[in-house]
Amino acid sequence: MKRGKFIVFEGIDGSGKSTQARMLAKDLEKRGVRVLLTSEHTDGAAGKLVEEVVRRRQKLDPLALQMVFVADRIDHTNEAIRPALGEGVVVVSDRYYGSTVAYGAVVADRKWLLRLNKRVSVVPDLTFWVDVPAEEAVKRMGLRDKERTIFEKEEKLRKVASVYRWLVKKEKDWVRVGGQGKAEMIHKKIMREIKARGWE
Ligand code: ADP
Repeated sequence: MKRGKFIVFEGIDGSGKSTQARMLAKDLEKRGVRVLLTSEHTDGAAGKLVEEVVRRRQKLDPLALQMVFVADRIDHTNEAIRPALGEGVVVVSDRYYGSTVAYGAVVADRKWLLRLNKRVSVVPDLTFWVDVPAEEAVKRMGLRDKERTIFEKEEKLRKVASVYRWLVKKEKDWVRVGGQGKAEMIHKKIMREIKARGWE
């Protein structure tokens, strides 16, 4: 069976990437494509520990936390992503290795993180970096009125965004999508990229 395509959404918190991942999955399904919509961190054993730490319910050294993200990714890759791709399913993931590189770069060397993460990851066929200014992302999160995580600070988000900018230049099959404007309009830009590759 033909392997499914693996499409990833990356960006800072509040950039709108979950919204776009959902819209893409829905649109593809409407066209009769079999889709697995998934996200990181997962709700598996390692992902649950991540959740505890980012919600400040448990303490963990920041570099150790990044390693738990990696553990969660290995589990996610082997238990969910790889099997689905093998069955010809299109996998749409809200965050993947780029997130550990971009967020982890605050506490560790980005090149080392990139090497480590790529060792344990499936290479995505396409990664969208949904790019919005940190200020706008923070505003949107305010609207969302959710509990703030330790990552959701404007200053930090600016640093994270600068690593995404580095990744989109360096990595193959990464595309920057401007994330400002109506969600529908951004979705159309994303669909154009998908159609250009003949995946719909
Ligand atoms: P992320 O997954 O990147 O954290 P979300 O998709 O959860 O972001 O979106 C964050 C907030 O911004 C949500 O309240 C969402 O409804 C809103 N939002 C998403 N896309 C847009 C957009 N294009 N314009 C304005 N607000 C948006």
